[in-house]
Amino acid sequence: MIFDFLTIFPEFFVSPLQEGIIRRALNDGKVEVRIHNIREYATDRHRMTDDRPFGGGEGMVMKPEPLAACLQSARTAGLRSRVVLLSPVGQRFTQRTAERLTGYDQLILVCGRYEGVDERFRERYVDEELSIGDYVLTGGELAALVVLDAMIRLLPGVLGCGESAVNDSFSCGLLKHRQYTRPRVFEGMAVPDVLFSGDHAAVARHRLLESVTLTLQRRPDLLSAMTFTPAERKILRQAGLLAQVEAAVEAMTSEDLK
Ligand code: SAM
Repeated sequence: MIFDFLTIFPEFFVSPLQEGIIRRALNDGKVEVRIHNIREYATDRHRMTDDRPFGGGEGMVMKPEPLAACLQSARTAGLRSRVVLLSPVGQRFTQRTAERLTGYDQLILVCGRYEGVDERFRERYVDEELSIGDYVLTGGELAALVVLDAMIRLLPGVLGCGESAVNDSFSCGLLKHRQYTRPRVFEGMAVPDVLFSGDHAAVARHRLLESVTLTLQRRPDLLSAMTFTPAERKILRQAGLLAQVEAAVEAMTSEDLK
């Protein structure tokens, strides 16, 4: 998959691309990342990429022409591409969005700055606007890197065999269970005994109950999209959690209907 970043700050991407799984995926040729400097597509003497807003108001707005020219140059003919504008007014970026976007060959991520981009560029060229959360960043670069980071680990062959995205929080529909490693006792706190039992079914049961408890406490909204297998329902019922899950789903549903 190819990721194209359109930015006026290309240096922003140097360090994040040189670390960890992203670097490995790039070195192994599992993904390609291309950074495009929007300023290079500005045609005026001062290479201006922004200007004052029509109608007045604070700040500057990114001009449409350099953005459009930069985008045209980033597009690769024959690829299924998707143009994403990072924006606080966009749809919330979630694990589901990340999964959906892996269906494209090329993702073009447009990083806004200042007060954002001229609306006509968005209307003509942008397929979707994504927000990484309800807060305002100084620019879209960090948000675009968040999208890359979340997506890269879903691409085939990127995670090693000891690593997997399948059981991650959100992928499986629940928050992930708590995790432990050596030492067995840390500052007087012991790891749950069941994890040393060698009984795989008991460990799986313990982890399911932890996941469900954590999700009930922190993100009950996730439970309405969750389908438990009959075996899982039995475990939840025996632990007294099934009624709580059903009550949480019911509460979410009646909240939605309001
Ligand atoms: N004036 C805009 C508003 O109030 O909605 C905010 C512009 S912000 C200072 C500059 C750029 O940062 C945006 O164009 C966008 O690309 C990026 N950005 C800021 N917050 C973001 C968020 N939560 N998610 C994604 N991108 C964001």
